[in-house]
Amino acid sequence: MQQKLTSLSRLALLNLAPSRLKTPTAGLQIILGSIPLHHIARERNVRTLLRLHNYEPLTTPTHRGHLKDIFNFYSSLGLSHIPIDDIPPRKTPPLYFRTLIDPEAKVELPPYPYCQWRKNGRTTSQSPASNHILEIYTDGSKSNDPKHWGTGGGFAFFIRTDDEIDYSNPNHTASISLCHTFSVFQAEVSAITTALREYHNLRKTGVIPYPRAIIIFSDSQSAIQAISAPLVTSKLVIQCIHMLNATSIFTAVTVRWIKAHVGHPGNELADTLAKRGARTPEIQGPAPFGPVPYSFIRQTIRTETSEQWNNEWLFNPACRQTKLWFPEAKPGISRFLLKQTREDLGRLIRWFTGHNFLRRHQNLLDPDSYTSRICRLCYTEPETAEHIMADCVTLDHTRRFFMGTPSLTKPYEWDISKLHAFLAYIGDKLEDSGPISAIQIVQRDDSWGDVFIDSTASGNLPSHSMITYDIIPDDIPPHQPPS
Ligand SMILES: [Zn+2]
Repeated sequence: MQQKLTSLSRLALLNLAPSRLKTPTAGLQIILGSIPLHHIARERNVRTLLRLHNYEPLTTPTHRGHLKDIFNFYSSLGLSHIPIDDIPPRKTPPLYFRTLIDPEAKVELPPYPYCQWRKNGRTTSQSPASNHILEIYTDGSKSNDPKHWGTGGGFAFFIRTDDEIDYSNPNHTASISLCHTFSVFQAEVSAITTALREYHNLRKTGVIPYPRAIIIFSDSQSAIQAISAPLVTSKLVIQCIHMLNATSIFTAVTVRWIKAHVGHPGNELADTLAKRGARTPEIQGPAPFGPVPYSFIRQTIRTETSEQWNNEWLFNPACRQTKLWFPEAKPGISRFLLKQTREDLGRLIRWFTGHNFLRRHQNLLDPDSYTSRICRLCYTEPETAEHIMADCVTLDHTRRFFMGTPSLTKPYEWDISKLHAFLAYIGDKLEDSGPISAIQIVQRDDSWGDVFIDSTASGNLPSHSMITYDIIPDDIPPHQPPS
């Protein structure tokens, strides 16, 4: 099966660009960043199984056959007992609170002194409220600083009476430290839930009076949209909705959006508190301390896939030449390559894999027609792609012109756009079995010119002549001589 998938992948990759027929599949896959299909199939299998299990973690190995393999792979990643935050989309329960995304919109306040606020046709009169309005600013944050790695939330309470509010003096603040597996979105949602839980504690102990209304300010549009969307897909969001609804029974609650980083003192304070929470060391114990987003599971699986693929590549005895340039998969370079034209991509593949039209390879395939494998430029080394790209002495100037260095030393450090320019100039001329021309750029006096080398088509040592020109050919890009 794996073989069938490999040949399918090979067919697609060979069709991308004109490469030589015997080009190894493993090399094509690494160069073009195409993960082998059997790995992709396993990833899809795990994801489908999770979806069919309603994102409940796969905990017991009761499966048989290929399901057992999927389970074993899943649990080998340490994922089998990790709760997942995602749930299959389900209808959002009725909301007793309001959400506002429009920063201009006014918050509707219930009539004073009674809180009469409950949607769905049922209105209850609750105990008389104070004339206070409680403003809660919440924020979530993720720290990628390797020394303080984590996710956190923060919130600040301000009590407002008759439009008077003192932002320099919050009534209550807190930082929460969440598990590093939390996403920023999860942190934003958790900050709202935790802030309300805290509000209930403070109100029960009498620290905060019954407010006439609670306005929660969050700078996360996605969090606000998630708690007001018709469908919910996250356990944390459901928790947050329940908490908001429970609070709304007694007080009018509005969650509204506030623009971040525009200097609002409440939002700035919440931001600082959230960052502190993210940088606070987590409690000791086995992570995670909360449901992980499904994206975390997907990412863990993908990381494992990439590692296994790179290992297969590392221990693949073939593809020696490709490994010089791609000791491992390089996704950034692959993306660059896939943006090139068919011809350019084909050339780069041929030069990276060594399956090209240079003398050594031609001599391997057809020793009768190509009797010599020696470089037609320097007559000392075998004419391989590596020799031309890295160290053929006759090309030192050309390399310096295009790549900024006269020669490359192992392990090769190279820039794909510079190497591409170098090969675009020189590659086809060398792969053409006809006479080589306009190969080398040399500096002569103050200007730049070309050395033209003629060789015969047969590949035998040619009688050659060198002519140095002072003129820069039209097809050379404008340049500054390298300093
Ligand atoms: Zn050479």
